[in-house]
Amino acid sequence: MSSFTDAWSTLGWDDLSLRIHSKTSRDVERALCRNKIDREDFMALISPAALPYLEPMAQRAQQLTRQRFGNTVNFFAPLYLSNLCANECTYCGFSMSNKIKRKTLDEDEIGRECEALNALGFKHLLLVTGEHKGKVGMDYFRRHFPAIRGHFDSLMIEVQPLEQEEYAELKTLGLDGVLVYQETYHAPTYALHHLRGQKQDFFWRLETPDRLGRAGIDKIGLGALFGLSGNWRTDSYMVAEHLLYLQQTYWQSRYSVAFPRLRPCTGGIEPASLLEENQLVQLICAFRMLAPDVELSLSTRESPYFRDHVIPLAINTVSAGSKTQPGGYADDHPELEQFAPHDNRSPQRVAEALTQAGLQPVWKDWDSFLGRVSQENVVTKQTGKFSGIRIP
Ligand code: SF4
Repeated sequence: MSSFTDAWSTLGWDDLSLRIHSKTSRDVERALCRNKIDREDFMALISPAALPYLEPMAQRAQQLTRQRFGNTVNFFAPLYLSNLCANECTYCGFSMSNKIKRKTLDEDEIGRECEALNALGFKHLLLVTGEHKGKVGMDYFRRHFPAIRGHFDSLMIEVQPLEQEEYAELKTLGLDGVLVYQETYHAPTYALHHLRGQKQDFFWRLETPDRLGRAGIDKIGLGALFGLSGNWRTDSYMVAEHLLYLQQTYWQSRYSVAFPRLRPCTGGIEPASLLEENQLVQLICAFRMLAPDVELSLSTRESPYFRDHVIPLAINTVSAGSKTQPGGYADDHPELEQFAPHDNRSPQRVAEALTQAGLQPVWKDWDSFLGRVSQENVVTKQTGKFSGIRIP
């Protein structure tokens, strides 16, 4: 059965890096003139040559976002069910050798978390676990999914990669989407940072979106963890290739792309290379131009200032008020957290900030979450006006 591995194996990392870095301002200007950009244009837009063009890139990205999504921004929250993990990743506080207190929520605790999230207004949920298929595997998911789903309009997961049949079964229990980030597409770097457990299997992870597509999962989320490899541009290009392959192969599914940067955590490493804030803006805008209909997501890993200025440009899904530990909403156990979020504002304060920027927070409209924006949300008069962001 074919998979993205076939395509990935033809993409030489060093060759791609060279091609991206050889792009010139002429390539960037050509890309900016196109209605629909191709792979070469995308390379130009993420290259160093594009940095002086952030303003026109932001204008174009914002125009495309308003055309496709109106003024809406969908809110979701992560609910951490467990911090147990059978893997060792150099960048994560849940790594099995870290001496932190471990916790897996039981039925009552899950119920309290769901109620706390509903009280905050959330109806779109992302379930997160470490990767421990023995204690937090299919049996656990079968036991708890139906009750959790009853509290929310949509349910996504970010857990260990599963078999195709398992995804298909979870779909019957109400699963709408799955996020599975490759972390890095550079296999030698991947091996350096994944030291124990099933996550060491680079290709099992790389082919997870194929299994999701075959299982008919409605939404598939991609991304790389910026700061792991020494070259964020090449990792970003690989994400783009992965996205284009999936869109062509499993066209019934929808896709989202996230842009996580390494955050401090217990026992965590320092980033191998920094993705600066202006480069992150560049990357987000380039993705909007490559894939105008794809959901672009920005989490609380980023600062309030950065989020308030970048979400209006090209982002259409955000988390807010996130707790990265099991039991974080109803109780508070900071000692259990995976990493420290940077935007610690309440969801309501984030929503107010976005409203002031002219956006419309969406908490529970399922159609909006699907990208089918209701008529009243559509901006019929496209001003294409850039909001005057000061690029951080
Ligand atoms: Fe476990 Fe995921 Fe953390 Fe790795 S990144 S230690 S797999 S929770």
